[in-house]
Amino acid sequence: MTICPKCKAENRPEAAFCANCGSILLAQPSSTKLLPSKPVESEPAEITTPELLSTGPVQPVSIPPEIVTPEPISIQPVEPPVSLIGFAPQPEGSIFGERFQFDTLVYQDEHENVYTVMEVCEPLAPRVSTCSNPECQTIHVPTGIEQEKFCTRCGHPMDQLSPLLVLQEADADRFSNQGQLIDLHLAHPNIHPPIAIFQQALPGGTRFYLVTPCSQELPAHPETSKVLEWGLQLADGLDYLHTQGVVLGEKLHPSSFGVVDDKIVWRNFGEARVLPMLTDREKINNVRLLALSLYSWITGKASYSLDSPLTPSLNRLFHQALIGEGFNSGAKLAHQIDLTIKAGLSPLNLDYSVGRRTHAGKIRVINEDSLLCFTVSRVQQGASQPVGIFAIADGMGGHARGDLASSLTIQTILQRVVTEVEAFRKFSKDEFTSWLKQTIQEANQVVYESRINADNDMGSTLVCGLLVGNQAYLAHLGDSRVYMLREKFIQQLSTDHSLVQQLVANGEISQDEARLHPQRNVILRCLGENPQVEVDVYTQDLLPGDKLLLCSDGLSGMLDDLKIQIVSNESQSPQMACDYLVDTANLAGGMDNISIILVEVILA
Ligand SMILES: [Zn+2]
Ligand SMILES: [Zn+2]
Repeated sequence: MTICPKCKAENRPEAAFCANCGSILLAQPSSTKLLPSKPVESEPAEITTPELLSTGPVQPVSIPPEIVTPEPISIQPVEPPVSLIGFAPQPEGSIFGERFQFDTLVYQDEHENVYTVMEVCEPLAPRVSTCSNPECQTIHVPTGIEQEKFCTRCGHPMDQLSPLLVLQEADADRFSNQGQLIDLHLAHPNIHPPIAIFQQALPGGTRFYLVTPCSQELPAHPETSKVLEWGLQLADGLDYLHTQGVVLGEKLHPSSFGVVDDKIVWRNFGEARVLPMLTDREKINNVRLLALSLYSWITGKASYSLDSPLTPSLNRLFHQALIGEGFNSGAKLAHQIDLTIKAGLSPLNLDYSVGRRTHAGKIRVINEDSLLCFTVSRVQQGASQPVGIFAIADGMGGHARGDLASSLTIQTILQRVVTEVEAFRKFSKDEFTSWLKQTIQEANQVVYESRINADNDMGSTLVCGLLVGNQAYLAHLGDSRVYMLREKFIQQLSTDHSLVQQLVANGEISQDEARLHPQRNVILRCLGENPQVEVDVYTQDLLPGDKLLLCSDGLSGMLDDLKIQIVSNESQSPQMACDYLVDTANLAGGMDNISIILVEVILA
């Protein structure tokens, strides 16, 4: 208890304001811990709940969400059935637990009745109250004989809270853990605590009751900004629950959350437990549950997946919360949410760290691969938005014709970038996509005309990445590839235009067999073969730490994806990774020219 220095009234341990006179109390440590205690004789809970249920340790109880999600305000009153067959609701005018008067029957089925009630008790007896500050609305369930007149969190006057909600059950176990939570006297703006539990013997059998505050269901498709705002509120509420020793159940349900005006509240702690001490693991798991709820409200997905259409900063937030190490406090999650909200307003300061290497390999005498790495760093209005174009062309045709085709390809791309890069800052996503298509089309034309003029069979593959800030526009022709490395895992973003790839897609051979297949060099699409070429541009969001790896088949033909992943992750810089990858491919045989560009997205 905290004693008010001014009026000497006893207050809740964590009170920041005196409940009796509203004056500011000395700040209490935030970790103030209230241990669950048996209610003493003089407490109103005991007086008004003659048959208090056991408050001993309980197992988490699974509650089907549809049963505990009444909509007290939007549902029309239900007419009580005349016959008392089944689980009939109590008649109008009933008093529940000697303290709560029937107001409306809002929900009724064979297992449960839900009523709104008004609290009726002696004029001076303390009642359930709510803070009059609309920003706060903290609910006080009476802790003692005296009515708390002022909010212990913000000092505003308290009003009576009504109506309240009463759930009536025939199942003795349904509310068995709620007594412990009531004993904690939870008082937080984002928590709707259970108010009372009791039981009554009725003609049809014993009925069990839980009294809670009223709240609304969450809206169906909330805006992302709204969800992030809720995330901050719920994270604060969760930390408060943890300081009180409350750990959430294994799962959260739609009924675990309610909305009151503009704020969100934790409610229905049917599966929660009260522990003397919480482990880090339990806290991390609870924050994960909260993050998963936020994630599913934003994406509509029940579990995390990489391809969710989220902004990079949101993706990073959920990746860290759900797949990564997680957060051991709501405050840490809230901090990340804060950063995400700010990142939404100003673009991330990114830069590219680039490594590149090309090598003829162990067998070929000449190197027919050509590379292009071109980056522009532009910092405007305090934000770094780099632009980069990266390409590898693998020439075909032999006898110095292949390297001509690949270098013509690279030159054409470079010329277009140099003359048009200034206009990029006004480009939309669609314009970047069509720019890349046109550029590759133009390169194709140059190689095609050169081939017709020379009357030979030269051509070139191409893999090309146009990177603008956190967006990559990618295209390829033939079997040159682009991989993505995120959180140390590799994923091939391109699909080879090759005969063996078709065989793999048809299930006729495996990826490993494709690498050794006698027709592995048969390309189905390349530059220079026809006057027009089909170009598919695909996009990829980039997060800080992501790596894009472009390579010719001299690398991917020698090393499988897992080896490329391991070697890339073991290297300290993109350049060292390229050197190491070339060396490893040569050790594996070096059958073809090996070219690699590795771009790491870094924070500027
Ligand atoms: Zn006082
Ligand atoms: Zn308040």
